[in-house]
Amino acid sequence: MLTHNLGYPRIGSQRQLKKACEDYWAGKSTLQQLLHTGSKIREENWLLQKQEGIDLIPSNDFSFYDQILDMSLMVNAIPERFHEIVLSGKKSETDLYFAMARSFQKDGMDITALEMTKWFDTNYHYLVPEFRKNQPFKLFSTKIIDEFNEAKQLGIQTKPVLIGPVSYLLLGKEKESGFDRIDLIPNLLPVYLEILKRLEKAHVEWVQFDEPFLALDLGEKEREAFTYVYTQIRKEFPKLKILLATYFEGLDGQGSLAASLPVCALHLDLVRNADQLPELLSVIPEKMSLSLGVVDGRNIWINDLEASLKTIHEVVDRLGEARVMIAPSCSLLHVPCDLALETDEHILLPEIKSWMAFAKQKLREVALLKNLAKNGTKDSGGFLKNQASLAARKTAPLIHDPQVKARVAAITPAMSSRKSAFALRKQNQQKVLNLPVFPTTTIGSFPQTKEVRSWRAKLKKGELSPEEYDRLLREETTELIKWQEEIGLDVLVHGEYERNDMVEYFGEQLNGYTFSKNGWVQSYGSRCVKPPIVFGDVSRPKAMTVYWAEFAQSLTPVPVKGMLTGPVTILQWSFVRDDQPRSETAYQIALAIRDEVQDLEKAGIRVIQIDEPAIREGLPLRKADWPGYLDWSITAFRISSTGVEDETQIHTHMCYSEFNDIIRDIADMDADVITIECSRSQMELLDAFGEFNYPNDIGPGVYDIHSPRVPSQEEMIFLLKKARAVIPEQNLWVNPDCGLKTRHWPETREALIQMVGAAKALREPVLV
Ligand code: GLN
Ligand code: ZN
Repeated sequence: MLTHNLGYPRIGSQRQLKKACEDYWAGKSTLQQLLHTGSKIREENWLLQKQEGIDLIPSNDFSFYDQILDMSLMVNAIPERFHEIVLSGKKSETDLYFAMARSFQKDGMDITALEMTKWFDTNYHYLVPEFRKNQPFKLFSTKIIDEFNEAKQLGIQTKPVLIGPVSYLLLGKEKESGFDRIDLIPNLLPVYLEILKRLEKAHVEWVQFDEPFLALDLGEKEREAFTYVYTQIRKEFPKLKILLATYFEGLDGQGSLAASLPVCALHLDLVRNADQLPELLSVIPEKMSLSLGVVDGRNIWINDLEASLKTIHEVVDRLGEARVMIAPSCSLLHVPCDLALETDEHILLPEIKSWMAFAKQKLREVALLKNLAKNGTKDSGGFLKNQASLAARKTAPLIHDPQVKARVAAITPAMSSRKSAFALRKQNQQKVLNLPVFPTTTIGSFPQTKEVRSWRAKLKKGELSPEEYDRLLREETTELIKWQEEIGLDVLVHGEYERNDMVEYFGEQLNGYTFSKNGWVQSYGSRCVKPPIVFGDVSRPKAMTVYWAEFAQSLTPVPVKGMLTGPVTILQWSFVRDDQPRSETAYQIALAIRDEVQDLEKAGIRVIQIDEPAIREGLPLRKADWPGYLDWSITAFRISSTGVEDETQIHTHMCYSEFNDIIRDIADMDADVITIECSRSQMELLDAFGEFNYPNDIGPGVYDIHSPRVPSQEEMIFLLKKARAVIPEQNLWVNPDCGLKTRHWPETREALIQMVGAAKALREPVLV
């Protein structure tokens, strides 16, 4: 029986990699210093995993930016626009690498980066490989071999990890039409064979191929590609031990395909999908080992060792001990490094901490499971403590709030419906709001300048009194309201100056939430997030946003939008409970938001926006699971948003995704107005309206806020006319793509003035 790990957080327990990269990018450190930090982190991680009792320790899971970008460099999938950099001869491989990650504007060159997108259903982002028809590949970067040798010198025989060829191609995008990227397999495979040859020469024993797509919906061509690739690899390297890793979903329906592949071991994510095990056990061939991913690599709770042991024993009984491996469910990239660093008992209560495990603690669990499975003694300290913690968590008064549970149980269908249909609501709202056609608004946040952020930091350090902080924010808000009135926006916002992050801000005010001090998880490159943690039943002790909404509205007769984050997004961007279904937690949050919406209404706020940017990314990876998810997530949104009078106008906002395939479900949310990201795709979204008449009001974003570029009034008029061709004029709103928090003031001012100009021009049919 072997323990192994699929990948370890590479950012470093103190986020050393972040600092090292950012210093290097800013020209404050040398390449050598950067490379040194990288090797230090790798060494630390390898030694730690050894010390914690992991038999097969991964290598090549380290990356200076992203493991898929590493792969693109390895197989020389370097788009032509970057060749200038190579040809200039002055730049290192690392500079080329960072140029592909972050774009390159220096020495007369201006090259855009690779596109970035979410890694399956996680909050990690990878860099999307770009493919062309008949594209050739060749071995370029030998990082995987170098790292294997580097570990070897430290006396550690690692298991190199790399994304398998089928998943690598599927993760990419065709950059010209007329071909299917999966057809590039014959060109790509030789590079993999070359790498394996070199690894074999370096005396590698195990190699881990990550093929997450094997657990997703597959077409015939992809299934064939899997068979072809792994048959070829086996043919060339009959002695090499290949571990094929799937994760984030189960093999349901594809167990036979997986079992037919000539590999030594197959890894299953049994946390995400425990039901796949029986199917697999019934088809697994004689010689294949099974790696049981029983320790959750996506969440921060301790393992139920008893339950895991039961699974392990069941498999050992069937396959024999020698064919069983124990591991986390997926790479530990998605959890923070070390819970032991959480020493501030005011931030994280010891009781809650005793229910939690970060990456390092998870390795310990994996090793403990092996010991327990082999030796069968359940009176070991680790096991008893684990069972005691689990038992305590089950009944802890800190977690369980009977009132919250009762409220969720008492949710009625009436609580997820508005009083009247949209058409009537719209009339009633118009009486109150008196808006022109093409009403203009923004998405909520305005530039969070250095000063604004410094006030918050000073408040935290006690260098600014709460009164002083409040006064400064009031001044900022007052100025913003005045400015919005001046330029003629129709529905104003207060600017969200009091918020650090749109989820954390609410988490901090809700019961059932806790936080960590060092619980960083890589989001992309040097960017990390520290997700808040839902540990218990969620409720709202008091109003969360009424103070600022009321203040802003008191400054102007123009309607100011109340600004909330929706239940699905709050859930999606937190670490959530694993002791109840996600839907249950979503309903609890929905009730808290519902109360907030009603309080805003009582305070005289006539327009309330509930942001749900994450609703699309929460979609399950398998299509068969979509209806179930959409049912509870849309219901949660409706619970949060429908407890108001017809006269109160509910907005929602979405971004970061393509929405065409769930446009009907979005319509089911029944928000009076949806503002939605659109401009980067030149309003591609509108195609969906060709066949489906979106029933309520909609504001397709008319300018991209992710870049400092100021679009002209004409450009925005052009986009709005495009929208007007498929959406009735009386349903159209005019707004940017998303919040303006990360922008600077000069371009924000200019762009919004142009935007209001565009709306006004459209109101004068003679002019356009
Ligand atoms: N109201 C939020 C803002 O403007 C919305 C952010 C988002 O959609 N990500 O910042
Ligand atoms: Zn947005």
